[in-house]
Amino acid sequence: MRAMVLREQGRPLEAARVTDPEPGRGQVAVRVVACGVCRTDLHVADGDLHEPKLPLVLGHQIVGEVVEAGEGAERFALGARVGIPWLGWTDGECRYCRTGRENLCERARFTGYDIDGGFAESAVADERFCLSLPPDPGPVHMAPLLCAGLIGYRALRACGDGARVGLYGFGASAHIVCQVAAHQGRRVFALTRPGDVEGQAFARELGAEWAGDSEAGPPEPLDAAIIFAPVGALVPAALGALDPGGVVVCAGIHMSDIPAFPYEILWGERQIRSVANLTRRDGEELLAIAPEVPVRTEVTAYPLERANDALGAIRDGTLRGAAVLEIADATSS
Ligand SMILES: [Zn+2]
Ligand SMILES: [Zn+2]
Repeated sequence: MRAMVLREQGRPLEAARVTDPEPGRGQVAVRVVACGVCRTDLHVADGDLHEPKLPLVLGHQIVGEVVEAGEGAERFALGARVGIPWLGWTDGECRYCRTGRENLCERARFTGYDIDGGFAESAVADERFCLSLPPDPGPVHMAPLLCAGLIGYRALRACGDGARVGLYGFGASAHIVCQVAAHQGRRVFALTRPGDVEGQAFARELGAEWAGDSEAGPPEPLDAAIIFAPVGALVPAALGALDPGGVVVCAGIHMSDIPAFPYEILWGERQIRSVANLTRRDGEELLAIAPEVPVRTEVTAYPLERANDALGAIRDGTLRGAAVLEIADATSS
């Protein structure tokens, strides 16, 4: 099969022909139709995240069709449309798994990091961690829901019932969360890079009540802020925009150092927290809510061979919405 392979961090992905992966016990083999490109893929490629499997196929927002079932794998019929997300495997027995927090599993393995992912024509996955997908939207528009959407949704849940939510950084994740938050009746404030008037207009189209520069801050205090941009300086900025009792949720897997800040902006029971990974429950919930909103994803599609260009566009921040690799035509409906 064709695959884009990371041989060494800090180097571009290489187009390669590799052997088709075989499904092991409890696994399915999937023909990859589309695979979203996430900022995390960029962090792995650039070396911000350490010790990935090498060589590695990146990609953890896989929409595909089951083409083969390994021994004992019975969950999906051949041809079923499934999603393969970041959480690829957990031990099911550690103290986190036993308490509904499999996202923190001590032995978790991640797709496109510890396990080969979807920047390829086929992939294998543990069937228990695959998501059953609704028929709409189609593969290319579905793919960004599988990480940008899922992590964003988990971050939004971490905002509690906060009515005024600030979104710092308006990329793939924020453009989905904005729609879900507005649908829930929250007031959304989008904070973009200074001068990004296009991004601000995009946010207003998707339900943000207000959009403006992150440096200037929101026009009124927030109950919650989600930081999607990997910029540590946004943490004190967002904290300073919160009313007492508010929370800053850091949604990214990697962020530059957070500068020192005066205690008084944390005082008043304000909180700073991160969200890490996802649980299968997050996936099921978001995929149930998405058609109700309905969530509309804005994507820029690239052929598999142009995966490096897709990563570059995320690095440059020039994308509107999400980048997706369009790898094959869907054969099932
Ligand atoms: Zn565990
Ligand atoms: Zn991701």
